[in-house]
Amino acid sequence: MTATLIDGKEIAARIRGEIAAQVKDLEAKHGIRPGLAAVLVGENPASQQYVRMKRKACEEVGIQSFGIELPADTSQDKLEAMVSELNARPDVHGILVQLPLPSHLDEARVLAAVSLEKDVDGFHPTNIGRLAQKGRNPLFVSATPAGVMRLLEETGVKFEGANAVVLGRSNIVGMPVALLLVKRDCTVSICHSRTRDLPEVVRRADILIAAIGRARMVKGDWIKPGAVVIDVGTNKIDDPTTKSGSRTVGDVDFEAAKEVAGAITPVPGGVGPMTIAMLLSNTLKSAKMSVAEKATIKGS
Ligand code: NAP
Repeated sequence: MTATLIDGKEIAARIRGEIAAQVKDLEAKHGIRPGLAAVLVGENPASQQYVRMKRKACEEVGIQSFGIELPADTSQDKLEAMVSELNARPDVHGILVQLPLPSHLDEARVLAAVSLEKDVDGFHPTNIGRLAQKGRNPLFVSATPAGVMRLLEETGVKFEGANAVVLGRSNIVGMPVALLLVKRDCTVSICHSRTRDLPEVVRRADILIAAIGRARMVKGDWIKPGAVVIDVGTNKIDDPTTKSGSRTVGDVDFEAAKEVAGAITPVPGGVGPMTIAMLLSNTLKSAKMSVAEKATIKGS
């Protein structure tokens, strides 16, 4: 292997340790314990599992976690009323609405109902809009894109003027990552299912972010020697040698790419652990902002 392995698990553990210390400090100095509310509508097993993982991670760093479980047939009004209630609660600093929502619900309207100050998932249209504007910054950057940027920073890669290629243009990963890379002065190409000659575009990448959800689609000979590769993809493939009969792989053919890249994330153990760490970090940030706001109100 020639590439340096970017160990997301180790970096995320370090970040979680820092968060736990700051949570303690916030409580000791200001009597405030950060709180995250996770809203789950319906019984999608993958969503239930994600919410469980997030709540467990909260508890491990001392963040209070509130689980709000609503039936699959919850109406738009009822869900928005629940979000308003959470917006008003002083013990809730972050609200996450687990996606996808059942198809009868208008996701965009629900996300826009989350108060900007509690939008720790960074999906509020104002937060996304700020990300796209020069000279402005969102209050919160959504967790997976923030995790990707943190991993890149850890490698010491030079952003300025680098050719960055982002595979995928989704609202939750590809597009925000691309905007963040532009903010760091990269020259960014955003690729999607209609991109022509994908291998040729990828070969120009000093920084490659793969977020397409296609198992091992990016081949080793697409990678520019020395490139930094962040693989966001999580894809289940059959593997009769494992107990469960399947395993998770990324969008990049890791075995081949690691012989060419300068640095690369594994899947699992790369971006995944960072996503949760950044969600906790956003919740802590929101709790700190509420302390600063109280101080301003007191002083005015
Ligand atoms: P998504 O909403 O399905 O978006 C996929 C994107 O990839 C779309 O922009 C699509 O293009 C593009 N695409 C699909 N097939 C392609 C192809 N053959 N060539 C080029 N582009 C192609 O997926 P997502 O939510 O962004 O997630 C992407 C991957 O990241 C998934 O594997 C997901 O499980 C994973 N993920 C991981 C984490 C984590 O924490 N580790 C978090 C979020 C997501 P069009 O726009 O043209 O359709």
